[in-house]
Amino acid sequence: MQLLPTFDLVLFGGTGDLAMRKLLPAMYWRVTCGQVTPESRIIGAARGELTREDYLAQVRASCETHLGEEFDPKVWDGFAERLSYTKIDATVEEDFAGLAAKLKGREDNVRAFFLSTAPDLFAPICDGLARHKLATSNSRVVLEKPLGHDRASSAEINERVGSIFEERQIFRIDHYLGKETVQNLLALRFGNTLFEPLWRRGRVQHVQITVAEDLGVERRADFYDRTGALRDMVQNHLLQLLCIIAMEPPATSDPDAMRDEKLKVLRALRPLVGRDVLAKAVRGQYKAGAAKGLPVVGYLQEKDVPPDSATETFVALKVEVNSWRWAGVPFYLRTGKRLQERQSEIVMTFEDVPHSIYERPDEAHALNRLVIQLQPEENITLTVLAKSPGEGMRLKPVNLSLDFSQTFKTRSLDAYERLLTDVIKGNLTLFMRRDELDAAWQWIDPIREAWQQYDERPKSYTAGSWGPAAASSLIGRDGFAWRNEL
Ligand code: NAP
Repeated sequence: MQLLPTFDLVLFGGTGDLAMRKLLPAMYWRVTCGQVTPESRIIGAARGELTREDYLAQVRASCETHLGEEFDPKVWDGFAERLSYTKIDATVEEDFAGLAAKLKGREDNVRAFFLSTAPDLFAPICDGLARHKLATSNSRVVLEKPLGHDRASSAEINERVGSIFEERQIFRIDHYLGKETVQNLLALRFGNTLFEPLWRRGRVQHVQITVAEDLGVERRADFYDRTGALRDMVQNHLLQLLCIIAMEPPATSDPDAMRDEKLKVLRALRPLVGRDVLAKAVRGQYKAGAAKGLPVVGYLQEKDVPPDSATETFVALKVEVNSWRWAGVPFYLRTGKRLQERQSEIVMTFEDVPHSIYERPDEAHALNRLVIQLQPEENITLTVLAKSPGEGMRLKPVNLSLDFSQTFKTRSLDAYERLLTDVIKGNLTLFMRRDELDAAWQWIDPIREAWQQYDERPKSYTAGSWGPAAASSLIGRDGFAWRNEL
């Protein structure tokens, strides 16, 4: 394992949910693996008046909870030595003086400022860093979603952050891109010749991308109600996954080579505007139902949700990519809360054989499928037809499983571990460039505008189902079905 350069990682929002649940356990693992130099520092920053001991106690409790049996008190000691806390209210400029004192004399280290806070604090934090001359040329800034709520607000954030940091220093996270399986999808596509001839119109019948959550809005209701599934999930995670599937092979592994190709996909998306939106985009909102066998309330009954809210908790879309490779191949995207299972997957269904000489299963089960599963497990399977044992030639679908954990028998990195180490190494490949973000918003905004223009209210679906019936019709009209409905 390659040793990381000595770094100072400052976690703004260092007491928040993301830091406690993901970022700090991720850094703990990197320490466990011996990748972090003894001189490196991790500094949590938030408004609370905490001593270092208070903070360490909070982080330890969180690591114990999230790492379970894998928590090792000896590793913890090594991790804790590198950890400290500083009180900063991002809106109070003088508060940055304490951080400046901590970083003084450490200008040669890599500096990473992770902004795990609400986006309205991005600009004040960047201003505070600049005024105290903390944004060195060796610094990077990491921005968590949501990066704005539409194209204009996203441009404003980027403008403000861009006035302090150069584009090469800005790491816009989409943690789906850090998942091991997404890396493996890239390896499968660009490390082998096998799939390339099949990866196109004429061979691929259609593609489905599902990111389903079984949870409701939990304690994010206030934020979620202002955002909705289209902006919270489609604008970033689902479009990024679509880009990884649909992009042309980059010429090199250079970060911009891949980001250029993803940008071309975003720019090639057929715009969804006006009445077309009503035909190709389904909005849904969950009503009372069940989750894991227990009754749950509907979205409108959730705490902090206005009783007349028209925010969508589900979206399904039919998307087309205007390119030689993909013309005529529909991509169906779907995401929602309170669905039957927590499941994220990409399903690429291939065309049927032109002529069959054997008895085959019904069409839905006869087609070859590449299933890239991201949650709850990470794996890739390819469904092929094989002869059923015994007399005669009866074909049955079987899965060729590319189970990486079984093959390599090593622990794979959590997405945030990979992304944080990439930040420290300065590798931008898995982070969104500003023009990508802009192109994504440019495609998303007209969908929401059309919903407003035509007063398209979300269709209700029962919590614990797979979403509104209209989502099944969306794909059913083209003669296909979601994989869970086959
Ligand atoms: P959170 O639990 O509400 O934490 C917010 C953090 O910001 C706390 O540490 C809070 O501490 C700090 N903070 C608030 N106001 C501040 C101020 N004026 N100055 C300095 N620090 C301040 O939120 P979160 O869930 O960790 O999410 C953080 C960001 O990441 C959000 O934008 C969220 O949308 C995004 N995100 C979260 C997740 C996730 O899984 N949680 C996933 C993806 C994206 P004090 O109140 O003590 O200051």
